[in-house]
Amino acid sequence: MQRNEADGIIISCDFCGTDWDGQAAMVEGHHGSVICLNCVKKALEVAAVGEDKYECTLCLRHNIPASLPRWTNQPKFSAVVCQECLHQAAKALSKAPHSQWKWQGGAKK
Ligand SMILES: [Zn+2]
Ligand SMILES: [Zn+2]
Repeated sequence: MQRNEADGIIISCDFCGTDWDGQAAMVEGHHGSVICLNCVKKALEVAAVGEDKYECTLCLRHNIPASLPRWTNQPKFSAVVCQECLHQAAKALSKAPHSQWKWQGGAKK
């Protein structure tokens, strides 16, 4: 998410609230939503199917079937990421030279 402060626009992760330092590996979704590498790592581990349809903070799709795994950093944050965005973000971050991280999950089928 973005917020305005005296020294300009501050970008922070929608899922953990960490402010972007201009260097860290983060992936942007729609409407200025952002997920950081730490959250992507965590989400890849614990994303799970839920019981209700949901809306993804990153791709803004509505009525995503409950069977598509999601992750949300509850109870502190309300942002939700769907598995498709998560995998997309993981791929993007694997390619980012400064993230120094490779997602292993993409390769195995
Ligand atoms: Zn984060
Ligand atoms: Zn999504």
